Amino acid sequence: MPTYEYRCSECNHEFELFQSIKSDPVKECPSCGRFSVERIIGMGGAVIFKGSGFYQTDYRSDEYKSRAKKESEIAKPETKDKKQEKKAEKSHAES
Ligand SMILES: [Zn+2]
Repeated sequence: MPTYEYRCSECNHEFELFQSIKSDPVKECPSCGRFSVERIIGMGGAVIFKGSGFYQTDYRSDEYKSRAKKESEIAKPETKDKKQEKKAEKSHAES
């Protein structure tokens, strides 16, 4: 089960909830009791935002190319993780 982050727009109370994907988003704030709680989408949102598609495309300098080459030569599990991150970025940008 994923952990969801919520924030109340009335009192700015932030909290995390461990709940099923199927369960409905929480609306009621446990702090002030108002129904002003919004789910914060994606815990890695900040990371994705930093490496936006525009930035990466513009940054294909020689350094980027040589680094990509190095990564493909080494082919460590670490490299796989990076590829997964890129996938996540892409799907995020499309939505
Ligand atoms: Zn509140």
